[in-house]
Amino acid sequence: MEVSGTRCRICGSELRHPFVDLGASPLCESFLAASECNRMEPFYPLCVYVCERCFLVQLEEYVAPAEIFSQYAYFSSYSESWLRHARNYVEMAVERFALGRESQVIELASNDGYLLQYFLEKGVPVLGIEPAANVAEAAMRKGISTEVRFFDVELARELAGAGRRADLLIGNNVLAQVPDLRGFVQGMKVVLAPTGVITLEFPHLLRLMRENQFDTIYHEHFSYFSLTAIDPFFRSEGLTIFDVEELPTHGGSLRIFARHSEDDSRPVGDGVTRLLGAERDAGLDRLETYSAFSEQVKETKRRLLDFLIRAKRSGGRIAGYGAPGKGNTLLNYCGIRTDFLDFTVDRNPYKQGRFTPGTRIPIYAPEKLREAKPDYVLILPWNLKDEIMEQESHIREWGGRFVVPIPEVRVYP
Ligand SMILES: [Zn+2]
Repeated sequence: MEVSGTRCRICGSELRHPFVDLGASPLCESFLAASECNRMEPFYPLCVYVCERCFLVQLEEYVAPAEIFSQYAYFSSYSESWLRHARNYVEMAVERFALGRESQVIELASNDGYLLQYFLEKGVPVLGIEPAANVAEAAMRKGISTEVRFFDVELARELAGAGRRADLLIGNNVLAQVPDLRGFVQGMKVVLAPTGVITLEFPHLLRLMRENQFDTIYHEHFSYFSLTAIDPFFRSEGLTIFDVEELPTHGGSLRIFARHSEDDSRPVGDGVTRLLGAERDAGLDRLETYSAFSEQVKETKRRLLDFLIRAKRSGGRIAGYGAPGKGNTLLNYCGIRTDFLDFTVDRNPYKQGRFTPGTRIPIYAPEKLREAKPDYVLILPWNLKDEIMEQESHIREWGGRFVVPIPEVRVYP
């Protein structure tokens, strides 16, 4: 596992310390049509490093973002709990930042307009930036003006030049997908109005490590963030993080609030200092903490396989629920194919009738569960387990039980 000359995305140091090696995997959103199943699939290494200087956890860029994100299977609006999260955020933001008809909200990676639609309802002008043409179209059908492009300094300058600077600049679950982090953050600085606020949400590395969430690592996610890594990085680009919230989404996320460093109207809150302290207590500023993660991941795999083998040996029939990106990392890393899961189901019609990348498990509509009556349903998007167990509670009619793989195998009667 020798890397030659790969450099940290934040500080440029050479990456010499592996965090975890998940073997080789196909791109996790490359679902196969039946006609593609007799072809080969490209597999790329899924080997993650930690930077010894700034502690950014990161993947080499094996695949160009244009290849990954120009046609994307992920539509945010398919998750009810995510929509609720978006609506609550909008309520909070409109009030806290006093947004109205004169304001400008810009969202980076605005997907299908799942979030901006709620600002629009309140009469706040919005602009979405979304490089995936198919999901951007869905946003435009909702009346959300959307630029079908990748966000960078150049686009930021065009927008600022046209007088479209953001009073609120939002990026939810996009930072991980940015290969040129510095350029992206510089772009945010350019497009942010003088007293504007940036809010970014991303999965919290501390939770990933504590709760074995190795399946949230995939090629589409280049970086994994702690506040320890991101706070000094933002300062170096003239942005100051003045508040931070811990959220339950995606297995535990951070929402950071940032502003221009020269805008002193919003003082840095205690929350920032407190969380930096908590990360230090957890050892996120020491390399040894990161090197322990790898063994934890292997053990999680062994336990899951242990459960699946026992379930199959005792005649159990197992189906999956969901075909999310994280599911595909889990299935590929653990080597789970139709020898364990007869099929999986997903509410997204784009995925129905296709096969999971690499492991080639057929994906059906959720109604298939009622027809097949499996003994176990393995929930792959475990972050949505409560919502899914409620929606599909009817599996109990035939004695079916839910299984959640992460942080460790748990069977729900
Ligand atoms: Zn670094």
